[in-house]
Amino acid sequence: MHNVPIFPKHIVKELGEIGAFGPSLPAEYGCGGLDEISYGIIMQELERCDSGIRSTASMQSSLVMYPIYKYGSEEQRKKYLPKLAKGELFGCFGLTEPNHGSNPAGMETRFEDKGDHYLLNGAKMWISNALADIAVVWAKNENGKIKGLMVERGMEGFSTPTTHGKWSLRASCTGELVFNNVRVPKENLLPNVEGIKGPLGCLSTARYGIAWGAIGAALDCYDTALRYAKERIQFGKPIGQFQLQQKKLAEMITEITKAQLLVWRLGVLKNEGKATPGQISMAKRNSCEIALDVAREARQMLGGMGITGEYPVMRHLMNLETVITYEGTHDIHLLITGHDVTGLDAFK
Ligand SMILES: Cc1cc2nc3c(=O)[nH]c(=O)nc-3n(C[C@H](O)[C@H](O)[C@H](O)COP(=O)(O)OP(=O)(O)OC[C@H]3O[C@@H](n4cnc5c(N)ncnc54)[C@H](O)[C@@H]3O)c2cc1C
Repeated sequence: MHNVPIFPKHIVKELGEIGAFGPSLPAEYGCGGLDEISYGIIMQELERCDSGIRSTASMQSSLVMYPIYKYGSEEQRKKYLPKLAKGELFGCFGLTEPNHGSNPAGMETRFEDKGDHYLLNGAKMWISNALADIAVVWAKNENGKIKGLMVERGMEGFSTPTTHGKWSLRASCTGELVFNNVRVPKENLLPNVEGIKGPLGCLSTARYGIAWGAIGAALDCYDTALRYAKERIQFGKPIGQFQLQQKKLAEMITEITKAQLLVWRLGVLKNEGKATPGQISMAKRNSCEIALDVAREARQMLGGMGITGEYPVMRHLMNLETVITYEGTHDIHLLITGHDVTGLDAFK
């Protein structure tokens, strides 16, 4: 069966040209210097096109550029950020492992201090942008402390096998990161963070972008269904004239509008430095849920045509199954909100 994911690598430079990489990081490092709502709108509009394209920009911005900016040295910022912003360098983020997804703190990937370099061993799984030039990899040192390291393509013992057989997020290149006695130069360690709060801080930024992005997919499904409802004639009328179809459209646009208000408010709080991880989880979870609901309703409104590639709805629907799973599953975000409101931890 033909199921070879195709990653349009040429878009990396083009996304750099339109300012989609690091839009809200400071202009002094070649980034956009925009506010958080502008960043959100960029993610929404990219995902209106495709969740995989938005993922490419999200990973580079929030999970590669953000940790270098936040946890890196001044030399690392100057070395990497301008090239990442332009799309001259392409990055990925390695946290998830075969045995540790929702519980990344249990990671097994490790590095040892060998005097003039670190020796890295282990494996990461489900990594977006796996074709990247550099990977921000989270691994434990000899003391079991989590640190971030930048691993570069071409380092001996570092390979990135592609993940095949995906029916979702096919426009994104997903793969593994395998480290077999990789010698990582000492200057590639991110010096200013230790512990799980490092990767979790990046995920908060990325989840904020996803909360906006998923609404973009919902908007494209809604627009498609609305157009179709006006054009498709059954029983001598456009199907948009039937109350059942109007109910679907009215509920779709209501949920989209509510979700937009939530992410807009979150953006205001983020601009003020007040957005909490719990609030971000609530928005990511809500946007994914309403986007999937909108996509399913839109698919039904298109009847048989809804399952074809003639329209974008089925593609969005399949993509959103990844968006609702990665960067914390739907269940995990519910548990985060549960913890936020009760103060009680239901994870363990
Ligand atoms: C296409 C794609 C791209 C990705 N890109 C990246 C990337 O770039 N970098 C990266 O590091 N990772 C990436 N991921 C990994 C993603 O973040 C993980 O898949 C996700 O965190 C879930 O981990 P898991 O798949 O191991 O599921 P598991 O953790 O095994 O969870 C399986 C099920 O158990 C549930 N569950 C787990 N723990 C609990 C609990 N305590 N209570 C109740 N239910 C629980 C989950 O909600 C889920 O339904 C990507 C994933 C996909 C599919």
